[in-house]
Amino acid sequence: MIIILKQDAPEQKVRQFCDELKGMGLEINDSKGSDTHILGLIGDTKAIAESWVLANPVVETCRRVSEPYKKANRKFHPDDTAVDVSGIKLGAGHFAVIAGPCSIESEAQITDVAQRVKAAGASLLRGGAFKPRTSPYSFQGMRGEGLDLLKIARRATGQPIVTEIMNTEHLPLFENVDLIQVGARNMQNFELLKAVGRQKKPVLLKRGLANTLEELVMSAEYIMAEGNENVILCERGIRTFETSMRNTLDLAGVVMLHKMTHLPVVVDPSHACGQAWMVPQLAKAAVAAGADGLMIEVHNDPPKAKCDGAQSLTPDQFDELMAFLKQEIPFFGKELN
Ligand code: PEP
Ligand code: MN
Repeated sequence: MIIILKQDAPEQKVRQFCDELKGMGLEINDSKGSDTHILGLIGDTKAIAESWVLANPVVETCRRVSEPYKKANRKFHPDDTAVDVSGIKLGAGHFAVIAGPCSIESEAQITDVAQRVKAAGASLLRGGAFKPRTSPYSFQGMRGEGLDLLKIARRATGQPIVTEIMNTEHLPLFENVDLIQVGARNMQNFELLKAVGRQKKPVLLKRGLANTLEELVMSAEYIMAEGNENVILCERGIRTFETSMRNTLDLAGVVMLHKMTHLPVVVDPSHACGQAWMVPQLAKAAVAAGADGLMIEVHNDPPKAKCDGAQSLTPDQFDELMAFLKQEIPFFGKELN
């Protein structure tokens, strides 16, 4: 971090400030020119908030020159990380497809979709039991009963399961889930991030609707700082001025995330565009952008879906997409599992 001091800052106050910084274990590179006085902080500045520095009356301005995240930072872990979800790897050359309905609706529905997406080549099964809905009057998910049905589907197909947690109190219910999803709306629910960081199951962290890439990586850092380094990031579209689609899929963000972090990045084109006809093309584009996996909503009868039917592929449409992906993924240097 570089700190520029005010021209007229009293020397004694500057000394006090420097002592305070040294007390935090930092070294200071002090350079005083004829009209600028700059302090270069050397050491781990991730716990120093810019707002704290700026609040000191001797400071004119300050600038961070290293990122505030460490465990997730590519600079400290140059190699890609592969996250293992009950034997299925994502990242470091491993590509996996997560597919299933937005929400679990019945045993027949989830088991039928599970069998179809497994046969098509998806290695992980998704299904929401606790649903974050904009309206309190919309279907809220089957909750605990939904989790039980998802486990029944897992027994039928052997696919590891992925489902969303919304509340720290529900954590005991998720003990038997293979990959715990933290949804877009909870990306900055810091208590939830800490709680999933204190347990061992891998976490799928979705980008918030209006969050920067750095904020997404900082949320991953929250989980990792608690001891759980098995974090998979998910780009699922962000809010922009565009209204013709549900969200705007930030594929440039996928490329940038791979520079910022060593963690795997999956893309969810379904929530990004909100329209089934767009999903296959966006899925292909995500592969070309370097995604380590895809999350695709598939429903056995989309017009009757209780949630997100418009963006759900039918099993036949999903078959077609998977046939294409099986052919194309090796061209991008990845192995589909
Ligand atoms: C979901 O995956 O069903 C979901 C609610 O996603 P998001 O948090 O990205 O909106
Ligand atoms: Mn959905």
